[in-house]
Amino acid sequence: MIVNRLIETLGADVVWPGARSDTRFHRDWTAREPVQPLAVALPRSTEDVATLLRMCNDAGIPVVPQGGLTGLVGGAMPSADCVVINLSRLAPAPKINRDARIAEVGAGTVLETLQQAAADAGLVFPVEFGARGSCEIGGMIATNAGGVHVLRYGMMRDQVLGLEAVLADGTVVTSMNPLKKNNTGYDLRQIFIGSEGTLGIITRAHLRLVPIEPARAVALLRVPDTAAAHRLLDMLKTSVPVNAFEVMWPSYYAYACETTGTEPIAAGEGVLLLVEITGPDEAALQEALLTALVPWMENGVIEDAVLSQSEAQAQALWDIREANEALSTKYRNIIGFDVSLPRAQMQAFHDECIDALARLAPGSQMMCFGHLGDGNLHLAVILDGAPDADATTLKSRILTAAGARSGAISAEHGIGTDKLAWLHLSRSPEEIGMMRRIKTALDPKNILNPGKLLPPVSSAT
Ligand SMILES: Cc1cc2nc3c(=O)[nH]c(=O)nc-3n(C[C@H](O)[C@H](O)[C@H](O)COP(=O)(O)OP(=O)(O)OC[C@H]3O[C@@H](n4cnc5c(N)ncnc54)[C@H](O)[C@@H]3O)c2cc1C
Repeated sequence: MIVNRLIETLGADVVWPGARSDTRFHRDWTAREPVQPLAVALPRSTEDVATLLRMCNDAGIPVVPQGGLTGLVGGAMPSADCVVINLSRLAPAPKINRDARIAEVGAGTVLETLQQAAADAGLVFPVEFGARGSCEIGGMIATNAGGVHVLRYGMMRDQVLGLEAVLADGTVVTSMNPLKKNNTGYDLRQIFIGSEGTLGIITRAHLRLVPIEPARAVALLRVPDTAAAHRLLDMLKTSVPVNAFEVMWPSYYAYACETTGTEPIAAGEGVLLLVEITGPDEAALQEALLTALVPWMENGVIEDAVLSQSEAQAQALWDIREANEALSTKYRNIIGFDVSLPRAQMQAFHDECIDALARLAPGSQMMCFGHLGDGNLHLAVILDGAPDADATTLKSRILTAAGARSGAISAEHGIGTDKLAWLHLSRSPEEIGMMRRIKTALDPKNILNPGKLLPPVSSAT
Protein backbone atom coordinates (compact mmCIF):
# COMPACT_ATOMS: atom_id res chain seq x y z
CA MET A 1 0.00 0.00 0.00
CA ILE A 2 1.08 3.58 -0.74
CA VAL A 3 1.73 4.59 2.88
CA ASN A 4 4.18 1.72 3.43
CA ARG A 5 5.91 2.48 0.14
CA LEU A 6 6.28 6.16 1.06
CA ILE A 7 7.73 5.21 4.47
CA GLU A 8 10.13 2.70 2.86
CA THR A 9 11.30 5.32 0.35
CA LEU A 10 11.50 8.43 2.53
CA GLY A 11 11.79 7.08 6.06
CA ALA A 12 9.64 6.89 9.17
CA ASP A 13 10.86 10.35 10.20
CA VAL A 14 9.29 11.88 7.07
CA VAL A 15 6.03 9.94 6.61
CA TRP A 16 3.57 8.81 9.32
CA PRO A 17 0.45 6.67 8.81
CA GLY A 18 -2.67 8.75 9.56
CA ALA A 19 -3.47 6.91 12.80
CA ARG A 20 0.01 7.62 14.18
CA SER A 21 0.35 11.16 12.85
CA ASP A 22 0.26 14.34 14.96
CA THR A 23 -3.38 15.46 15.18
CA ARG A 24 -2.42 19.12 14.65
CA PHE A 25 -2.20 18.28 10.93
CA HIS A 26 -5.81 17.01 10.93
CA ARG A 27 -7.48 20.41 11.05
CA ASP A 28 -6.85 24.08 10.27
CA TRP A 29 -7.52 27.40 12.05
CA THR A 30 -11.20 27.36 11.04
CA ALA A 31 -11.93 24.80 13.80
CA ARG A 32 -13.69 22.36 11.51
CA GLU A 33 -14.02 18.78 12.74
CA PRO A 34 -10.58 17.11 12.48
CA VAL A 35 -10.09 14.58 9.66
CA GLN A 36 -7.49 11.81 9.90
CA PRO A 37 -5.72 11.52 6.53
CA LEU A 38 -4.17 8.40 5.02
CA ALA A 39 -0.73 9.73 5.96
CA VAL A 40 1.13 12.88 6.96
CA ALA A 41 4.48 13.74 5.32
CA LEU A 42 6.94 16.37 6.52
CA PRO A 43 9.47 16.57 3.65
CA ARG A 44 12.98 17.87 4.38
CA SER A 45 13.81 19.06 0.86
CA THR A 46 12.44 19.87 -2.58
CA GLU A 47 13.62 16.38 -3.64
CA ASP A 48 11.45 14.80 -0.90
CA VAL A 49 8.45 16.82 -2.16
CA ALA A 50 9.17 15.63 -5.72
CA THR A 51 9.38 11.99 -4.58
CA LEU A 52 6.12 12.28 -2.60
CA LEU A 53 4.27 13.82 -5.53
CA ARG A 54 5.64 11.38 -8.12
CA MET A 55 4.64 8.37 -6.01
CA CYS A 56 1.19 9.75 -5.10
CA ASN A 57 0.57 10.72 -8.73
CA ASP A 58 1.52 7.24 -9.96
CA ALA A 59 -0.86 5.73 -7.41
CA GLY A 60 -3.62 8.32 -8.04
CA ILE A 61 -3.63 9.36 -4.35
CA PRO A 62 -4.79 12.91 -3.52
CA VAL A 63 -2.38 15.21 -1.67
CA VAL A 64 -3.20 18.24 0.49
CA PRO A 65 -0.40 20.81 0.85
CA GLN A 66 -0.21 22.53 4.21
CA GLY A 67 1.74 25.48 5.58
CA GLY A 68 1.01 27.11 8.93
CA LEU A 69 -2.69 26.09 8.79
CA THR A 70 -3.91 29.66 9.36
CA GLY A 71 -5.93 29.86 6.13
CA LEU A 72 -9.52 30.89 6.75
CA VAL A 73 -11.40 29.04 3.98
CA GLY A 74 -10.65 25.36 4.64
CA GLY A 75 -8.03 25.08 1.85
CA ALA A 76 -5.56 23.05 3.93
CA MET A 77 -8.14 20.69 5.48
CA PRO A 78 -7.23 17.05 4.79
CA SER A 79 -9.59 14.38 3.46
CA ALA A 80 -9.61 10.79 4.74
CA ASP A 81 -8.12 9.47 1.47
CA CYS A 82 -5.26 11.99 1.13
CA VAL A 83 -1.59 12.29 1.99
CA VAL A 84 -0.96 15.58 3.80
CA ILE A 85 2.28 17.23 2.68
CA ASN A 86 3.17 19.81 5.31
CA LEU A 87 5.99 22.13 4.23
CA SER A 88 7.00 23.44 7.67
CA ARG A 89 10.41 21.74 7.57
CA LEU A 90 11.44 23.63 4.43
CA ALA A 91 12.60 26.54 6.55
CA PRO A 92 16.33 27.19 6.29
CA ALA A 93 17.42 30.58 7.68
CA PRO A 94 16.33 33.25 5.16
CA LYS A 95 19.21 34.45 2.96
CA ILE A 96 19.08 38.22 2.78
CA ASN A 97 20.84 40.07 -0.03
CA ARG A 98 20.95 43.54 1.48
CA ASP A 99 22.24 45.32 -1.63
CA ALA A 100 19.71 43.75 -3.99
CA ARG A 101 16.95 43.93 -1.31
CA ILE A 102 15.97 40.32 -1.92
CA ALA A 103 15.27 37.44 0.49
CA GLU A 104 15.59 33.80 -0.51
CA VAL A 105 13.26 31.77 1.69
CA GLY A 106 11.91 28.25 2.05
CA ALA A 107 8.17 27.59 1.79
CA GLY A 108 8.07 26.68 5.48
CA THR A 109 9.57 29.95 6.72
CA VAL A 110 7.19 31.62 9.17
CA LEU A 111 6.32 35.23 8.25
CA GLU A 112 7.63 36.58 11.57
CA THR A 113 11.00 34.82 11.02
CA LEU A 114 11.37 36.52 7.65
CA GLN A 115 10.31 39.89 9.11
CA GLN A 116 12.98 39.56 11.81
CA ALA A 117 15.71 38.49 9.35
CA ALA A 118 14.84 41.45 7.11
CA ALA A 119 14.84 43.86 10.08
CA ASP A 120 18.28 42.56 11.17
CA ALA A 121 19.53 43.64 7.72
CA GLY A 122 17.87 47.06 7.98
CA LEU A 123 15.06 46.10 5.59
CA VAL A 124 11.36 45.21 5.75
CA PHE A 125 9.25 42.47 4.24
CA PRO A 126 6.14 44.54 3.63
CA VAL A 127 3.34 41.96 4.00
CA GLU A 128 1.94 42.14 7.53
CA PHE A 129 -1.07 40.61 9.27
CA GLY A 130 -2.21 39.05 12.52
CA ALA A 131 -1.23 35.43 11.71
CA ARG A 132 2.45 36.48 11.39
CA GLY A 133 3.63 34.07 14.10
CA SER A 134 2.21 30.97 12.36
CA CYS A 135 1.56 31.49 8.64
CA GLU A 136 4.30 30.35 6.28
CA ILE A 137 5.64 31.84 3.07
CA GLY A 138 4.44 28.90 0.91
CA GLY A 139 0.89 29.26 2.26
CA MET A 140 0.99 33.04 1.86
CA ILE A 141 2.05 32.69 -1.78
CA ALA A 142 -0.53 29.93 -2.40
CA THR A 143 -3.27 32.22 -1.04
CA ASN A 144 -1.84 35.50 -2.41
CA ALA A 145 -2.18 36.94 1.09
CA GLY A 146 -2.76 40.67 1.61
CA GLY A 147 -2.81 42.40 5.00
CA VAL A 148 -2.65 45.99 6.21
CA HIS A 149 0.00 47.44 3.89
CA VAL A 150 -1.38 46.41 0.50
CA LEU A 151 -2.26 50.02 -0.26
CA ARG A 152 1.42 50.95 -0.26
CA TYR A 153 3.22 47.72 -1.22
CA GLY A 154 0.71 45.37 -2.85
CA MET A 155 -0.22 41.76 -2.07
CA MET A 156 2.02 38.66 -1.99
CA ARG A 157 1.86 38.60 -5.80
CA ASP A 158 3.74 41.88 -5.86
CA GLN A 159 6.53 40.61 -3.59
CA VAL A 160 7.39 37.34 -5.37
CA LEU A 161 10.30 37.82 -7.76
CA GLY A 162 10.76 34.13 -8.42
CA LEU A 163 9.79 30.76 -7.02
CA GLU A 164 10.32 27.03 -7.17
CA ALA A 165 7.38 24.64 -7.32
CA VAL A 166 6.89 20.91 -7.78
CA LEU A 167 4.22 19.75 -10.22
CA ALA A 168 1.82 16.87 -9.61
CA ASP A 169 4.06 14.40 -11.49
CA GLY A 170 7.14 15.38 -9.45
CA THR A 171 8.68 17.75 -12.02
CA VAL A 172 10.58 20.53 -10.23
CA VAL A 173 10.05 23.91 -11.94
CA THR A 174 12.68 26.36 -10.75
CA SER A 175 11.82 29.96 -11.63
CA MET A 176 13.99 31.53 -8.94
CA ASN A 177 14.78 34.50 -11.14
CA PRO A 178 15.46 37.57 -8.99
CA LEU A 179 15.35 40.02 -11.92
CA LYS A 180 12.88 42.87 -11.81
CA LYS A 181 12.26 42.63 -15.55
CA ASN A 182 12.06 39.30 -17.39
CA ASN A 183 9.97 39.26 -20.53
CA THR A 184 10.99 35.84 -21.78
CA GLY A 185 7.57 34.31 -22.26
CA TYR A 186 4.78 33.30 -19.85
CA ASP A 187 5.27 34.47 -16.27
CA LEU A 188 5.18 30.99 -14.76
CA ARG A 189 5.43 32.08 -11.12
CA GLN A 190 2.08 33.85 -11.38
CA ILE A 191 0.32 30.55 -12.11
CA PHE A 192 1.16 29.31 -8.62
CA ILE A 193 0.41 32.55 -6.74
CA GLY A 194 -3.15 32.31 -5.43
CA SER A 195 -3.59 28.76 -6.74
CA GLU A 196 -4.31 27.40 -3.22
CA GLY A 197 -2.23 24.26 -3.67
CA THR A 198 -4.16 23.05 -6.74
CA LEU A 199 -1.44 23.47 -9.40
CA GLY A 200 1.83 22.64 -7.63
CA ILE A 201 3.63 22.70 -4.30
CA ILE A 202 5.75 25.81 -3.70
CA THR A 203 9.11 24.97 -2.11
CA ARG A 204 11.23 28.17 -2.30
CA ALA A 205 10.90 31.82 -3.29
CA HIS A 206 12.81 35.02 -3.92
CA LEU A 207 10.95 37.89 -2.25
CA ARG A 208 11.27 41.63 -2.56
CA LEU A 209 12.32 43.66 0.52
CA VAL A 210 11.92 47.40 1.04
CA PRO A 211 13.90 49.93 3.09
CA ILE A 212 12.95 50.37 6.75
CA GLU A 213 10.92 53.43 7.62
CA PRO A 214 11.61 53.63 11.33
CA ALA A 215 8.86 56.03 12.39
CA ARG A 216 5.12 56.30 11.96
CA ALA A 217 2.26 58.60 12.78
CA VAL A 218 -1.28 57.26 13.17
CA ALA A 219 -4.61 59.08 13.25
CA LEU A 220 -8.05 57.82 14.21
CA LEU A 221 -10.84 59.85 12.61
CA ARG A 222 -14.56 59.85 12.10
CA VAL A 223 -16.16 60.94 8.79
CA PRO A 224 -19.83 60.77 7.73
CA ASP A 225 -19.57 57.92 5.18
CA THR A 226 -17.28 55.97 2.83
CA ALA A 227 -17.61 58.56 0.06
CA ALA A 228 -16.05 61.18 2.38
CA ALA A 229 -13.43 58.61 3.40
CA HIS A 230 -12.43 58.05 -0.23
CA ARG A 231 -12.15 61.80 -0.90
CA LEU A 232 -9.93 62.09 2.16
CA LEU A 233 -7.74 59.20 0.97
CA ASP A 234 -7.28 60.78 -2.45
CA MET A 235 -6.20 64.05 -0.82
CA LEU A 236 -3.82 62.34 1.63
CA LYS A 237 -2.13 60.36 -1.15
CA THR A 238 -1.08 63.61 -2.79
CA SER A 239 0.55 64.98 0.38
CA VAL A 240 1.79 62.19 2.70
CA PRO A 241 3.12 58.59 2.32
CA VAL A 242 -0.03 56.65 3.27
CA ASN A 243 0.89 53.19 4.53
CA ALA A 244 -2.55 52.06 5.70
CA PHE A 245 -6.09 53.40 5.41
CA GLU A 246 -8.42 51.19 7.44
CA VAL A 247 -12.13 51.48 8.12
CA MET A 248 -14.35 50.47 11.06
CA TRP A 249 -18.10 50.85 11.28
CA PRO A 250 -19.44 51.97 14.70
CA SER A 251 -20.65 48.53 15.87
CA TYR A 252 -17.20 47.04 15.30
CA TYR A 253 -15.52 50.08 16.86
CA ALA A 254 -17.70 49.82 19.98
CA TYR A 255 -16.76 46.14 20.35
CA ALA A 256 -13.04 46.96 19.77
CA CYS A 257 -13.09 49.77 22.34
CA GLU A 258 -14.68 47.47 24.90
CA THR A 259 -12.11 44.77 24.12
CA THR A 260 -9.11 47.10 24.39
CA GLY A 261 -10.52 49.18 27.26
CA THR A 262 -10.08 52.51 25.44
CA GLU A 263 -12.34 54.88 23.46
CA PRO A 264 -10.12 57.60 21.93
CA ILE A 265 -13.07 59.24 20.09
CA ALA A 266 -16.83 58.63 20.23
CA ALA A 267 -18.27 56.02 17.83
CA GLY A 268 -20.82 58.42 16.31
CA GLU A 269 -22.80 57.44 13.24
CA GLY A 270 -20.40 57.64 10.31
CA VAL A 271 -17.34 55.50 9.74
CA LEU A 272 -14.08 55.48 11.69
CA LEU A 273 -10.77 55.54 9.85
CA LEU A 274 -7.28 54.59 10.92
CA VAL A 275 -4.60 56.31 8.86
CA GLU A 276 -0.91 55.40 9.11
CA ILE A 277 1.96 57.22 7.47
CA THR A 278 5.60 56.18 7.76
CA GLY A 279 8.98 57.82 7.26
CA PRO A 280 12.30 58.62 8.93
CA ASP A 281 11.19 61.06 11.64
CA GLU A 282 8.21 60.74 13.99
CA ALA A 283 7.81 64.42 14.82
CA ALA A 284 7.94 65.40 11.14
CA LEU A 285 5.33 62.75 10.32
CA GLN A 286 3.00 63.94 13.09
CA GLU A 287 3.35 67.49 11.80
CA ALA A 288 2.73 66.45 8.17
CA LEU A 289 -0.35 64.40 9.06
CA LEU A 290 -1.80 67.20 11.16
CA THR A 291 -1.18 69.76 8.42
CA ALA A 292 -2.93 67.53 5.86
CA LEU A 293 -5.94 66.87 8.11
CA VAL A 294 -6.58 70.34 9.60
CA PRO A 295 -8.48 71.79 6.59
CA TRP A 296 -10.77 68.73 6.64
CA MET A 297 -11.40 69.19 10.35
CA GLU A 298 -12.16 72.86 9.79
CA ASN A 299 -14.64 72.20 6.99
CA GLY A 300 -16.36 69.58 9.16
CA VAL A 301 -15.76 66.50 6.96
CA ILE A 302 -13.65 65.08 9.78
CA GLU A 303 -16.11 65.07 12.67
CA ASP A 304 -13.63 63.97 15.35
CA ALA A 305 -9.99 62.93 15.38
CA VAL A 306 -7.05 61.91 17.53
CA LEU A 307 -3.40 61.80 16.39
CA SER A 308 -0.71 59.65 17.96
CA GLN A 309 1.95 61.58 19.88
CA SER A 310 4.21 58.58 20.49
CA GLU A 311 4.87 55.06 19.21
CA ALA A 312 2.91 53.67 22.19
CA GLN A 313 -0.13 55.74 21.23
CA ALA A 314 0.21 54.68 17.59
CA GLN A 315 0.19 51.03 18.66
CA ALA A 316 -2.80 51.60 20.97
CA LEU A 317 -4.78 52.90 17.98
CA TRP A 318 -3.76 49.88 15.90
CA ASP A 319 -4.84 47.58 18.75
CA ILE A 320 -8.38 48.87 18.24
CA ARG A 321 -8.32 48.03 14.53
CA GLU A 322 -6.74 44.61 15.17
CA ALA A 323 -9.16 43.65 17.96
CA ASN A 324 -10.96 41.53 15.34
CA GLU A 325 -8.56 38.72 16.25
CA ALA A 326 -10.36 38.42 19.61
CA LEU A 327 -13.84 38.13 18.02
CA SER A 328 -13.71 34.33 18.09
CA THR A 329 -12.97 34.28 21.82
CA LYS A 330 -15.93 36.55 22.62
CA TYR A 331 -18.48 34.99 20.24
CA ARG A 332 -19.12 31.34 19.42
CA ASN A 333 -20.97 31.44 16.11
CA ILE A 334 -19.40 33.76 13.52
CA ILE A 335 -19.49 33.71 9.72
CA GLY A 336 -16.60 35.68 8.22
CA PHE A 337 -16.54 37.41 4.83
CA ASP A 338 -13.75 39.23 3.01
CA VAL A 339 -15.17 40.92 -0.04
CA SER A 340 -13.84 43.48 -2.52
CA LEU A 341 -16.11 46.22 -3.80
CA PRO A 342 -15.90 49.19 -6.13
CA ARG A 343 -15.63 52.38 -4.12
CA ALA A 344 -19.08 53.65 -5.01
CA GLN A 345 -20.73 50.45 -3.76
CA MET A 346 -19.24 50.10 -0.29
CA GLN A 347 -21.68 52.03 1.86
CA ALA A 348 -24.70 50.67 -0.04
CA PHE A 349 -23.37 47.10 0.26
CA HIS A 350 -22.90 47.54 4.02
CA ASP A 351 -26.43 48.93 4.41
CA GLU A 352 -27.93 46.17 2.21
CA CYS A 353 -26.27 43.51 4.38
CA ILE A 354 -27.59 45.10 7.59
CA ASP A 355 -31.14 45.10 6.14
CA ALA A 356 -30.86 41.52 4.89
CA LEU A 357 -29.61 40.25 8.25
CA ALA A 358 -32.40 42.03 10.13
CA ARG A 359 -34.91 40.14 7.99
CA LEU A 360 -33.18 36.75 7.68
CA ALA A 361 -31.58 36.51 11.11
CA PRO A 362 -33.23 38.72 13.75
CA GLY A 363 -30.93 38.89 16.78
CA SER A 364 -27.76 38.61 14.68
CA GLN A 365 -25.06 41.29 14.71
CA MET A 366 -22.83 42.48 11.89
CA MET A 367 -19.41 43.98 12.48
CA CYS A 368 -17.72 45.53 9.50
CA PHE A 369 -14.12 46.70 9.19
CA GLY A 370 -11.32 46.37 6.68
CA HIS A 371 -8.82 47.79 4.29
CA LEU A 372 -10.79 50.68 2.79
CA GLY A 373 -7.83 51.87 0.77
CA ASP A 374 -7.83 48.51 -1.07
CA GLY A 375 -11.61 48.29 -1.47
CA ASN A 376 -11.61 45.29 0.88
CA LEU A 377 -14.23 44.88 3.62
CA HIS A 378 -14.27 42.19 6.30
CA LEU A 379 -17.67 41.29 7.73
CA ALA A 380 -18.16 39.25 10.89
CA VAL A 381 -21.76 38.09 11.08
CA ILE A 382 -22.40 36.97 14.66
CA LEU A 383 -25.17 34.47 15.13
CA ASP A 384 -24.93 33.91 18.90
CA GLY A 385 -28.22 35.82 19.28
CA ALA A 386 -29.84 34.12 16.27
CA PRO A 387 -29.35 30.38 16.86
CA ASP A 388 -32.01 29.36 14.29
CA ALA A 389 -30.49 31.36 11.40
CA ASP A 390 -29.51 29.33 8.34
CA ALA A 391 -25.82 30.08 7.77
CA THR A 392 -25.83 28.93 4.12
CA THR A 393 -28.76 31.23 3.27
CA LEU A 394 -27.01 34.18 4.93
CA LYS A 395 -23.74 33.41 3.18
CA SER A 396 -25.49 33.16 -0.15
CA ARG A 397 -27.37 36.44 0.42
CA ILE A 398 -24.23 38.40 1.32
CA LEU A 399 -21.99 36.95 -1.40
CA THR A 400 -24.73 37.49 -3.99
CA ALA A 401 -24.98 41.14 -2.88
CA ALA A 402 -21.20 41.51 -3.37
CA GLY A 403 -21.32 39.83 -6.80
CA ALA A 404 -24.29 41.94 -7.93
CA ARG A 405 -22.33 45.09 -7.06
CA SER A 406 -19.39 43.96 -9.27
CA GLY A 407 -17.42 42.90 -6.21
CA ALA A 408 -15.24 39.86 -5.55
CA ILE A 409 -16.52 37.23 -3.09
CA SER A 410 -12.97 36.95 -1.75
CA ALA A 411 -10.45 39.77 -1.63
CA GLU A 412 -7.72 38.02 0.37
CA HIS A 413 -8.56 34.67 1.91
CA GLY A 414 -9.33 32.71 -1.26
CA ILE A 415 -11.98 30.15 -2.15
CA GLY A 416 -10.89 26.90 -0.43
CA THR A 417 -14.01 24.85 0.24
CA ASP A 418 -15.86 27.71 1.93
CA LYS A 419 -16.73 29.78 -1.14
CA LEU A 420 -16.71 27.02 -3.81
CA ALA A 421 -20.45 27.20 -4.41
CA TRP A 422 -20.25 30.93 -5.14
CA LEU A 423 -17.18 31.20 -7.37
CA HIS A 424 -19.49 31.88 -10.35
CA LEU A 425 -20.57 35.16 -8.71
CA SER A 426 -17.09 36.59 -9.30
CA ARG A 427 -15.83 34.61 -12.30
CA SER A 428 -17.43 34.07 -15.74
CA PRO A 429 -18.02 30.56 -17.15
CA GLU A 430 -15.17 31.26 -19.61
CA GLU A 431 -12.79 32.19 -16.79
CA ILE A 432 -13.72 29.09 -14.78
CA GLY A 433 -13.38 26.99 -17.96
CA MET A 434 -9.86 28.35 -18.52
CA MET A 435 -8.93 27.65 -14.89
CA ARG A 436 -10.09 24.07 -15.41
CA ARG A 437 -7.98 23.74 -18.57
CA ILE A 438 -4.86 24.95 -16.72
CA LYS A 439 -5.63 22.55 -13.87
CA THR A 440 -6.09 19.58 -16.26
CA ALA A 441 -2.87 20.39 -18.12
CA LEU A 442 -0.76 20.56 -14.96
CA ASP A 443 -2.54 17.97 -12.84
CA PRO A 444 -4.34 15.55 -15.19
CA LYS A 445 -5.10 13.04 -12.42
CA ASN A 446 -6.51 15.79 -10.15
CA ILE A 447 -4.38 14.77 -7.16
CA LEU A 448 -3.43 18.29 -5.98
CA ASN A 449 -5.86 19.55 -3.34
CA PRO A 450 -8.95 18.18 -5.12
CA GLY A 451 -12.27 19.75 -4.16
CA LYS A 452 -10.66 23.11 -3.31
CA LEU A 453 -10.91 26.37 -5.29
CA LEU A 454 -12.60 24.80 -8.40
CA PRO A 455 -16.20 23.58 -8.03
CA PRO A 456 -16.93 20.03 -9.26
CA VAL A 457 -17.34 19.77 -13.06
CA SER A 458 -20.93 18.59 -12.63
CA SER A 459 -21.95 21.98 -11.18
CA ALA A 460 -23.47 24.61 -13.49
CA THR A 461 -20.17 26.33 -14.19
C1 LIG B 1 -5.48 35.91 12.77
C2 LIG B 1 -5.44 35.83 11.25
C3 LIG B 1 -5.34 36.98 10.50
C4 LIG B 1 -5.29 36.91 9.11
N1 LIG B 1 -5.20 38.08 8.42
C5 LIG B 1 -5.10 38.02 7.09
C6 LIG B 1 -4.96 39.23 6.34
O1 LIG B 1 -4.98 40.33 6.88
N2 LIG B 1 -4.82 39.12 5.00
C7 LIG B 1 -4.82 37.91 4.37
O2 LIG B 1 -4.66 37.86 3.15
N3 LIG B 1 -4.98 36.76 5.04
C8 LIG B 1 -5.12 36.78 6.38
N4 LIG B 1 -5.27 35.60 7.06
C9 LIG B 1 -5.40 34.34 6.31
C10 LIG B 1 -4.19 34.01 5.44
O3 LIG B 1 -4.63 33.50 4.20
C11 LIG B 1 -3.28 32.98 6.00
O4 LIG B 1 -2.89 33.38 7.27
C12 LIG B 1 -1.99 32.67 5.18
O5 LIG B 1 -1.88 33.32 3.94
C13 LIG B 1 -1.96 31.21 4.89
O6 LIG B 1 -0.69 30.73 5.20
P1 LIG B 1 -0.52 29.32 5.90
O7 LIG B 1 0.92 29.00 5.85
O8 LIG B 1 -1.16 29.26 7.23
O9 LIG B 1 -1.29 28.36 4.87
P2 LIG B 1 -2.29 27.15 5.14
O10 LIG B 1 -3.47 27.61 5.92
O11 LIG B 1 -1.55 25.99 5.67
O12 LIG B 1 -2.74 26.85 3.64
C14 LIG B 1 -3.50 27.78 2.93
C15 LIG B 1 -3.68 27.26 1.48
O13 LIG B 1 -2.43 27.25 0.81
C16 LIG B 1 -2.09 25.93 0.39
N5 LIG B 1 -0.66 25.78 0.65
C17 LIG B 1 -0.01 25.93 1.82
N6 LIG B 1 1.32 25.81 1.65
C18 LIG B 1 1.51 25.58 0.33
C19 LIG B 1 2.67 25.38 -0.48
N7 LIG B 1 3.91 25.40 0.03
N8 LIG B 1 2.49 25.15 -1.80
C20 LIG B 1 1.27 25.13 -2.34
N9 LIG B 1 0.14 25.31 -1.63
C21 LIG B 1 0.27 25.54 -0.31
C22 LIG B 1 -2.98 25.00 1.20
O14 LIG B 1 -3.26 23.81 0.50
C23 LIG B 1 -4.23 25.86 1.37
O15 LIG B 1 -5.04 25.78 0.23
C24 LIG B 1 -5.35 35.65 8.46
C25 LIG B 1 -5.45 34.49 9.21
C26 LIG B 1 -5.51 34.57 10.59
C27 LIG B 1 -5.63 33.29 11.36
